[in-house]
Amino acid sequence: MKELLIVLLDIAIGVALYFIPAIVASKRDHQNATAIGILNLLLGWTIIGWVGALVWAVSGPRGGDLVVCSECKEMIVRGAKVCKHCGARFDEVEAEA
Ligand SMILES: [Zn+2]
Repeated sequence: MKELLIVLLDIAIGVALYFIPAIVASKRDHQNATAIGILNLLLGWTIIGWVGALVWAVSGPRGGDLVVCSECKEMIVRGAKVCKHCGARFDEVEAEA
């Protein structure tokens, strides 16, 4: 019985470690958290896939740093002068909206 508990604990720790990239992406409110989670799930067993998912999770803006472009409604970084999607230009006042 004790051995079974140890095995279950090992599995739980292993699963937690395996999903670190997805957990980090979720905690950071990453804009691509779902895609990172899928990459983590499907390719996490390859070391490259796991490291790639982790790097992706810790890079890029947090979801809270994004605002909606008033022209094309895509997400852009708060304070951006030019929308990367539609090329619309903003002064600081418009970018806050
Ligand atoms: Zn735009």
